[in-house]
Amino acid sequence: MKAIVLGSGTSTGVPIVGCKCSVCTSSSPFDKRLRAAILLIGDDHVLIDTGPDLRYQMLRMGIDHLSAVLYTHFHYDHLSGLDDLRPFTFDHKEQLLCYANIQTHEIILSRYPYIRENVAYTTVPRLRVEMLPGNEEDGYSAFNLAGMRIQPIRMVHIPKAGVLSTGFVVDGKFGYLTDFKEIHSDDEKYLYNLEVLFLGSPIEKPHISHINHGEALALFDKFKPARGVIGHLSHYYSHAELTQRWQGRAEPAYDGMEFKF
Ligand SMILES: [Zn+2]
Ligand SMILES: [Zn+2]
Ligand SMILES: [Zn+2]
Repeated sequence: MKAIVLGSGTSTGVPIVGCKCSVCTSSSPFDKRLRAAILLIGDDHVLIDTGPDLRYQMLRMGIDHLSAVLYTHFHYDHLSGLDDLRPFTFDHKEQLLCYANIQTHEIILSRYPYIRENVAYTTVPRLRVEMLPGNEEDGYSAFNLAGMRIQPIRMVHIPKAGVLSTGFVVDGKFGYLTDFKEIHSDDEKYLYNLEVLFLGSPIEKPHISHINHGEALALFDKFKPARGVIGHLSHYYSHAELTQRWQGRAEPAYDGMEFKF
């Protein structure tokens, strides 16, 4: 099994349009961060999130087929490229399967009502948007996709606004948790001693909807993954700076970073 980071950046991406800071103007490819997405490769490809950079991410990595899509939550930087799934459904007799939590499921179907109508003409993406098996109250059940065992993790992204997000643990080895402030305590049991734990954390300062870098490092100390990786990065830090700063404790994510597990 393999995972490839398609986007390691926060919601603006890096560089930010118009910004002249040293990271946004850096010539290092490690400092070019598209919006958050990751590809899981088992027997086939499973994509997590379809942000606004989806089309370019697929072209850049030469990805021409998908067997399913998992959604973390409904924010623009994770969802708004949904319509660019169209080319992946052109030749399919069956709809492309997408899984989302209850909030994201509802928002996808209200924001893109033509999916619900399942109209069979080529200009709409032919998607089957399902809710993740189980529920937020009792927890989600693990399920199989492309030969991988997927365990959803319940998280709270913006406590004040009640926005939920979902993390995923793949084959009990690779955890991908982005855009969250809290992890449901009953789901913490899935997170100990993973080969890789990937956490989304844009900045050092306290943040209303994300864990900060200190909180991410504390979670690595707690869950003890063999590798701790931090993504969803902002423009305040270069890859070189973060590598230096986190030496031995965490690795900064970058676009194209690969994990085998
Ligand atoms: Zn985000
Ligand atoms: Zn900048
Ligand atoms: Zn978000």
